[in-house]
Amino acid sequence: MASKRDYYEILGVNKDASAEDIKKSYRKLAMKHHPDRNPDNPKAEEHFKEAKEAYEMLSDEQKRAAYDQYGHAGVEQGAGAGGFGGAGFGDAFGDIFGDIFGGGRSGGQGNKVFRGADLRYNMEVSLEDAAKGTETKIRIPVQSTCETCNGSGARPGTQPVSCTTCGGHGQVRMQQGFFSVQQTCPKCHGSGKMVKDPCPTCHGAGRTKQNKTLSVKIPAGVDEGDRIRLSGEGEAGVNGGPTGDLYVVIHLKEHAIFQREGGNLHCEMPISFSSAALGGEIEVPTLDGSAKMKIPAETQTGAVFRLRGKGIKPLRQSEHGDLMVHVVVETPVKLTEKQKDLLREFETSTQADSGKHSPRNKSWMNKVKDFFD
Ligand SMILES: [Zn+2]
Ligand SMILES: [Zn+2]
Repeated sequence: MASKRDYYEILGVNKDASAEDIKKSYRKLAMKHHPDRNPDNPKAEEHFKEAKEAYEMLSDEQKRAAYDQYGHAGVEQGAGAGGFGGAGFGDAFGDIFGDIFGGGRSGGQGNKVFRGADLRYNMEVSLEDAAKGTETKIRIPVQSTCETCNGSGARPGTQPVSCTTCGGHGQVRMQQGFFSVQQTCPKCHGSGKMVKDPCPTCHGAGRTKQNKTLSVKIPAGVDEGDRIRLSGEGEAGVNGGPTGDLYVVIHLKEHAIFQREGGNLHCEMPISFSSAALGGEIEVPTLDGSAKMKIPAETQTGAVFRLRGKGIKPLRQSEHGDLMVHVVVETPVKLTEKQKDLLREFETSTQADSGKHSPRNKSWMNKVKDFFD
């Protein structure tokens, strides 16, 4: 086991600190280093985990006593491979921060109430629908409260009874090493109840898997990664706990013509080299039909023209973005002999004034010359 920092030191408290002080100090550290506040900062996550571990040890009277007496060895031996009762990230956190972050735990000993899980649904949306908004139906599998038993898990007419393993407390004490640990009852999973005569529909689970069809309104302007929250459409809670939410996460389908960048759209526009040279009006595609655009004479490949207001109005903005048209001058193909002759004639006429008609070529030639000199 690698050498570990002292738990008191981690939390910045004295050995005789009160439970209240320990909690206060942890709260401060956890807020500071919480991963949600420090995205992409592995150091912060490390600090957060360290503080959490220290708090878990020192906030439990028995573990703290063992630690005071035997140091890290005392608690590690007791902890076993999986840590204390496998308390997950959310556990210690939810207990303390439930009030701040709206964590989902409430209810007392022996009959824990859990908020149902939030669900995530990935939805592919076409660029047109994202721009204009739409309404669509989705089918999602959800755990809903069993209608036969109203969630109790017991056959209608019967009642769940107290769990015999934990006596209805939902927690059992296990002797481990130097001290005893409290764990969620493996039989009733913390509910404190047991179903003698299970409901025929859900077989005692109290919840059933069902497919639900939901209507989802996609507001105009949504972009990749936007989330639409459907309150109360997640999984059913446990023991009558509140239902979770459903988050519809938007993914934009690739578009054949346009690439989106916030409110702006980009597209490529091939034009013939004679239009590029002479200039003129061309027709460019937009999300709602097409628009006319003037191309000046002597337009080169890579030139970008902006059509104001022909982009998308993002969700939280008041103005439409623009359409950026990227010009590509196209070399003509499948020419007839006559057309080739015309081009040869054209080529001869332009070669007479060396470089005058090809500024880019001329500057390139100069660079090559400089390079070899
Ligand atoms: Zn039990
Ligand atoms: Zn049932």
